[in-house]
Amino acid sequence: MNNFDLFNPSDEHKLLRSTVREFVAAEIEPQALECDRREMFNLSLFRKLGELGLLGITVAEPYGGAGLDPVAAVIAHEEISWSDPGFCLAYLAHAMLCANNLAQNGGEALKQRCLPKLCSGEWVGCMAMSEPHVGTDVLGMKTTALRKPDGSYVINGRKMWITNGTVDDDRTPADGCLLYAKTGEKDGRPQISTFFVEKTHPGYSVGQKIKDKTGMRASNTAELVFADCHVPATALVGNEGDSLLHMMKNLEIERVTLAAMSLGIAKRALQVMNKYAREREAFGHPLAHFGQIQKYIGDSYAEYMAARAYVYNTSRCMRLDQAGNRLDTDGVKIVASTMAKRVADRAIQVLGGYGYVGEYVVERLWRDSKLLEIGGGTLEAHEKNITNDLGRVGEALL
Ligand SMILES: Cc1cc2nc3c(=O)[nH]c(=O)nc-3n(C[C@H](O)[C@H](O)[C@H](O)COP(=O)(O)OP(=O)(O)OC[C@H]3O[C@@H](n4cnc5c(N)ncnc54)[C@H](O)[C@@H]3O)c2cc1C
Repeated sequence: MNNFDLFNPSDEHKLLRSTVREFVAAEIEPQALECDRREMFNLSLFRKLGELGLLGITVAEPYGGAGLDPVAAVIAHEEISWSDPGFCLAYLAHAMLCANNLAQNGGEALKQRCLPKLCSGEWVGCMAMSEPHVGTDVLGMKTTALRKPDGSYVINGRKMWITNGTVDDDRTPADGCLLYAKTGEKDGRPQISTFFVEKTHPGYSVGQKIKDKTGMRASNTAELVFADCHVPATALVGNEGDSLLHMMKNLEIERVTLAAMSLGIAKRALQVMNKYAREREAFGHPLAHFGQIQKYIGDSYAEYMAARAYVYNTSRCMRLDQAGNRLDTDGVKIVASTMAKRVADRAIQVLGGYGYVGEYVVERLWRDSKLLEIGGGTLEAHEKNITNDLGRVGEALL
């Protein structure tokens, strides 16, 4: 297998990468700085991702998706994030957290009705797990869904930090929200169930659009309110109490694609600092002549390549329809997110004052990279999971 390319394992992957890269250069890059400045989610550009087949990249073709694998998802996120991590986060929340989640866990009728709209971009989707008082400690969630005698549910609670929770500044909610809520207790443990709440369901609204984020400002983040929100029995995703499995499966692809976003950030930062260090002179030499600058560039390249190999190898071994990769999906998120923040930080340092302003992009990448140490699981949560998993499997894996 001498000619095996870990980053483009098939011609289809190669073609996907070049298609996304062209789209990024032509359409995403020109608006990135402005959307960050204005804290604006570019909805019309987002819908164009549907025309490219990216919004349902891992959804099976009969439902309007592209039916591609986790490596393809990694490629798309890496390429988009190279230019605009904020926009890419909105893409991830829709394509991975909502559409892929529904595709893997939903029943036939729900999938047939909702997935084509999510895949085309007619609908914008989000996923609501976190709450104002509960993030990492997810089983402590307070949102409840009470089953009525006719099988419908009444949902009450609030969800916090929801990417795509609103699609604009007028607090218009996402068309579809994949929501986790408590439906009771079993053997002393909370029973959590998954629902697909639609914009038309009464009692579903946006509490606030969260402004002044450090980074990821090209994606909207919102608090969602569910006040006696009535949903039909058909809104239940899978069966009551299935959410832990849904979460486990979906968090794995979420973490790998968040790690892929880190790769895009690091690659861009590395390119910017490398070019600048050759063009800018000090004391009669290009900056690249100086050992301290070489350390920034050399360390960044090596760390980027190590993270990249880990992310691609993990995504290559994953299956979307089953959990089982928690150890390495947590692992890649730690390695790639911390690497991206370090590389973006070094890029600012290499550019000096120019690195500190928007035009040279790296300060935005640095701000955006911080979220990847928090969203989709904090670094501490990943460390906890890895330690627990290694405790379970013992020495076998090491
Ligand atoms: C921009 C943005 C977008 C987001 N998008 C979404 C979204 O689309 N959907 C969604 O559901 N959520 C979303 N989130 C929420 C995100 O997943 C949570 O912020 C994250 O899980 C952490 O939860 P928390 O903020 O409540 O922090 P907490 O869980 O309160 O943690 C606070 C600190 O305590 C640490 N901590 C907690 N428990 C432990 C422990 N047992 N051991 C050691 N340390 C611990 C944490 O690691 C962290 O450092 C988003 C967040 C942001 C900022």
